[in-house]
Amino acid sequence: MTKVIREVCNSVDTVLKIGKLEFDVVSSCRLSHEGEMIYGFCHYGSQVIYVEEEMCKQAQDVTIMHEVLHAIFDQVGEEQDEGRIDRLSHALYAFILDNKEFINDLGS
Ligand SMILES: [Zn+2]
Repeated sequence: MTKVIREVCNSVDTVLKIGKLEFDVVSSCRLSHEGEMIYGFCHYGSQVIYVEEEMCKQAQDVTIMHEVLHAIFDQVGEEQDEGRIDRLSHALYAFILDNKEFINDLGS
């Protein structure tokens, strides 16, 4: 059974809509899983994405992108391949930053 430990839980930073579900994004201190420090975690049941707050903003953003991809992969039935999700999170993060005008204009 997966148990993520979070010693300090701050208030919800933001809410992200992923598919038809809304996930709270929560900054936490000293996230760990089975004794190992982790930077983020997506808890599908409670629809919460935890991100380690003791990181720079850029690392937090990439981590949140990584956890969002976990949620998307879960919803579409894709295998939770850590390497694939990690590569995609960095690529998507860079694409979004490099194309803000296009992103802001989507759907308008
Ligand atoms: Zn992951």
